[in-house]
Amino acid sequence: MSQTTRCVCVKCGADRQEVAQICPSCGHRPEGEGLLVAWLLSDANLPAMELDQVQKRIRDGEVIRPSGRMLDRARRAMGATFATDEGMTSLQRLGLLATNLLATPLVGWVLVVWWRTSRPRASLQALALTLPASVLFTALVVYLAS
Ligand SMILES: [Zn+2]
Repeated sequence: MSQTTRCVCVKCGADRQEVAQICPSCGHRPEGEGLLVAWLLSDANLPAMELDQVQKRIRDGEVIRPSGRMLDRARRAMGATFATDEGMTSLQRLGLLATNLLATPLVGWVLVVWWRTSRPRASLQALALTLPASVLFTALVVYLAS
């Protein structure tokens, strides 16, 4: 992941040092896609002069919405690392576990594949929940069918 020394807060325009840092001014905490936006608004992506302009636009109340293409660029530049992936929340984990057990483990597998590159930590957590559920599910189906 490319290092930054200056990163403009997408919410309030304050300067921060790192992409994942909680904004000291407004308390905004970049997460998920927000980390990509944070990278786009950092000196790893923009020269100081352009950062100044973006900062002014944000302070003037403009909402920054990067295009999907820009987000892709950030995703490639940052690389998907465990450091940028917060993983699943406990509520998400509980939800997935319930879905795996009560409905079908297929949902879990979709998430595992879906998150494989963009959210490696969440993907691994989904796998840890889905694999045993799949075995259990299969065993149950086989048991009921026999
Ligand atoms: Zn802020």
